[in-house]
Amino acid sequence: MRTHLFLYLLVLSLSIDLSSQSSAIDDPMDLRNHDFDTDQIISLDGQWSYADSCLYPSECNPTISVDVPNVRLDEMGFPSFGYGTFYLEFIVDHELPLMLKVFDQFSAYEVYVNGELIGNVGVSGPDKESTTPGRQMLYLPLHDLSSDTVRLAIAISNFSHHKRGVGGKVLLGLEKAVLHQKFLDDSYDMFLTGFLILATFFFLGLFFNGRQDYAILYFALFTLVYAYRIVGWHNYVLHDMINIPYRLGLIFEYSTFYLSGAFFAMYLEKLFPHEAPKVLTRIFAYLSIAWTFSTLLPVQILTQFNIPYLYILLVGIFLMVGILIKAVLNKRPGARYSLYSVMGVLAVFIFKSLNYLHVVEENRLVSIAGELIFFIFQALILSRIFTENWRQAKLEAEQLAVAKSDFLSVMSHEIRTPLNAVIGTAYHLMESDPKPDQVDDLKRLRNSSENLLSLINNVLDYNKIESGKIELDQSFVSLKSYCETQVSLLQPLADQKGIVLKLMCDQDLPEQVCIDRIRVGQVLTNLIGNAIKFTIEGHVILRVALLRESDVDIDMRLEVEDTGSGIAAKDIQKIFGAFEQSNNSLTREYGGVGLGLAISKKLIELMGSTIEIKSEPGIGSKFSFVLTCQKMDEVKLHVQSKEPVDLSSLKVLLVEDNEMNVLIAKRQLEKRGIQVVVASSGAEALAQVGKESFDLILMDLQMPVMDGFEATLKLREMGFDKPIIALTAASVTPKELKEKHLDGMLPKPFSPEDLMDKLKQFAEK
Ligand code: ADP
Repeated sequence: MRTHLFLYLLVLSLSIDLSSQSSAIDDPMDLRNHDFDTDQIISLDGQWSYADSCLYPSECNPTISVDVPNVRLDEMGFPSFGYGTFYLEFIVDHELPLMLKVFDQFSAYEVYVNGELIGNVGVSGPDKESTTPGRQMLYLPLHDLSSDTVRLAIAISNFSHHKRGVGGKVLLGLEKAVLHQKFLDDSYDMFLTGFLILATFFFLGLFFNGRQDYAILYFALFTLVYAYRIVGWHNYVLHDMINIPYRLGLIFEYSTFYLSGAFFAMYLEKLFPHEAPKVLTRIFAYLSIAWTFSTLLPVQILTQFNIPYLYILLVGIFLMVGILIKAVLNKRPGARYSLYSVMGVLAVFIFKSLNYLHVVEENRLVSIAGELIFFIFQALILSRIFTENWRQAKLEAEQLAVAKSDFLSVMSHEIRTPLNAVIGTAYHLMESDPKPDQVDDLKRLRNSSENLLSLINNVLDYNKIESGKIELDQSFVSLKSYCETQVSLLQPLADQKGIVLKLMCDQDLPEQVCIDRIRVGQVLTNLIGNAIKFTIEGHVILRVALLRESDVDIDMRLEVEDTGSGIAAKDIQKIFGAFEQSNNSLTREYGGVGLGLAISKKLIELMGSTIEIKSEPGIGSKFSFVLTCQKMDEVKLHVQSKEPVDLSSLKVLLVEDNEMNVLIAKRQLEKRGIQVVVASSGAEALAQVGKESFDLILMDLQMPVMDGFEATLKLREMGFDKPIIALTAASVTPKELKEKHLDGMLPKPFSPEDLMDKLKQFAEK
């Protein structure tokens, strides 16, 4: 680096010559009184003698005195390329175990002690052809010195690098101290390189696997090129391990220097896009990249090319610090730390420059602290920004999911309320002696509206399962009759297709088991429904088998077998995904949206089991799952079986604001002889309960002025302790029901059977 560089002018203006030892040719440096135990390594800086165009050990006649290591022969009037030998004579206790450390001299050099060659880098010769340049440091033990006077000669030939002279220092110290120093230097370089390579792969991984955030990519590239500068330059650790040809070493050394500037500028531009003047950062980055190509030029040119780049770099540094200061002022996340860390590395840079100019002694701790702090802070800033983005994205996704779920709930509520009226009216018309030519139309009306309802229910259920809102509601059922009901619900469908639908239950199954009747029913309806849908001829069987029985519970397998189309092995995993169907013409024929199995699978998992499938195309399929259920104990069973449920003595208060819904529910209840009083609002319900007594209340939840929840709370405060059952088209979890003092829920729209089942459940209690 040249003194005309502004930065170094600055540095030079501060420089003071700290070198303590100086020696002229006729005045050997006497080190016999030097205490190597306390000051273990010294730098042989000072006046050396020089013989130009002469390579030791040929007869050389040193004529001039030069200042080592600051000497630049080209600046003293010698040609830029040439060869010569530097001499230094010093006196030292020859019995001490000493070692020389000779820094890289930019080209080929040989080291002689008392006329004997003790080490060389490359091959020194009097012309370009006979010289092979090299870049390395030498550690040379000074064993077997015959006398205290040491005549050190360094013969350097340079026909490549633009710098001519002694490129680096020569150190003398106790062998163990010099080697210990080397160990520490190499260890630090290896440690920092390992750290940087790890950071490179970590950030590259983040970039390619995660969000394509270019700040992360440029930082990864910056750490990579910086890692090379630590291990491939600096102390040349990499050159000690593998033989890197001189030319290639120079290409790497210079290109990583330029690229680190380019990548760091691009990194800052992406990190603080509002603060970085895009045009300037781009110009700087592109110039740095252009300079990278200069490494392909001949060595003597490429080694000179970095001088103008240093000016560009200086502008780049001002630019980058400016961006950071602006980001700090704009309170960008991480900007303050980024500024501190860049200032830290700049301080190291200046410190190293001062050391290069021998103004200050090298201090490894300063470099370690500066570089590590820089990289650790940058990595922390990036990970903070990354996690901040990720948290933001997660929040947005969650808000979207809530919006989607709310939308679906509202929509399904809005659709289910009028659908309730449609289904109820269809049932009512069918039961009120319709004309024979209307029966088919009415059936179609009822079936279509029920299909529509089941579709809406599926979408809503899937939505609820996805958002974890489904809780199981377990109660005891009479297993056999429960399964018979499930099968009978689908019997008309099987009859229509001429398929045999059978139930086969093990004889020794217990009478009453505890299950979530709605959810198990939903799964069975879906499996049996699919089996019928995909079977053209043959049978569909629901098998219930007892696998294990203890005093308290049982394991039973529920299996739906069909002789239908079967499913190809490649589609088996696919059909459990939402909106997935195997590519089957039957599927297209019979429709469906591909939610049934996805819901069934999740519901079965919620019950602590897994769905299993065996299927062979053309032969048929078996879907099964195992449930562990509690049994009802003998005493309770005995008592229960003796008490038939009579609903006709019930007196029910129906709280509902929708006239159509009132009409339907009232009809259904009165048909079973149940006495019904209607209240069209929460306030009216409170008034009625104040006047007369009821066995049960059916409470609509969505009413204007006072909703069902509030009315229930007021009723409980009034001391009403009989069951209150919510009627709702929205979803309410068992936990919510309990919190709001409700005893149960009947989802709208409901069939007459659903309503009666619910009433029976509470009348039994
Ligand atoms: P849907 O029946 O609404 O299309 P499901 O999730 O219930 O959705 O089923 C997904 C797909 O799995 C069906 O479209 C069909 O291709 C296949 N499938 C399900 N059950 C059977 C079966 N018993 N036999 C043959 N294929 C079936």
